[in-house]
Amino acid sequence: MTILLKRTNIPQDEEKEKRFVKHVKRKSINRWVSEHREAWNKKQREQAQRIRSEVLTFLGNKCVRCGETDIRCLQVDHVNGGGVQELRRIRGATYFRKVFQELKRGSKAYQCLCANCNWRKRYEREEISEKESNERNM
Ligand SMILES: [Zn+2]
Repeated sequence: MTILLKRTNIPQDEEKEKRFVKHVKRKSINRWVSEHREAWNKKQREQAQRIRSEVLTFLGNKCVRCGETDIRCLQVDHVNGGGVQELRRIRGATYFRKVFQELKRGSKAYQCLCANCNWRKRYEREEISEKESNERNM
C-alpha cells in the first residue's frame, strides 16, 4: 500500500499536518479495502478466529459447566448476560480483542461455555427473546 502525498498540500501547522496525514492514510486504506474486499474479509475472519482461540485458551478451553473440550462447540459467555447486545455493537476481531484485554486485566465477566450449556443458561435466565423462543419451538 503506497501513500503518495503532495508536499505542497500539507498544512504547516504540526497538529493540522498530523490530522491531514491521518486523513490521507485513512482514505488510502479505505480505497484499498474497497478494491480488495474479499481478501480483507478473509483476513478479518482469520484474525477473529485467532483472537477467539487465544481467548478460549485463556479461559481454559473447557466448558465450565459440563467439561466439553471440543473447540468447535466452545463459546465466550458473559457471566452476567448482555452478550447478545454487546455483539450487536461490536463483532469479530474487535469484540474478541476487547474481551481479551478485559480478561488480561483480571475481569471475571467472561467464561467458557459450550453451545448447549450457553443455550441452557439463556433459557434458565430467560434471556431468550419471545421471537427466538417461538422459532426454536416450531
Ligand atoms: Zn457445556
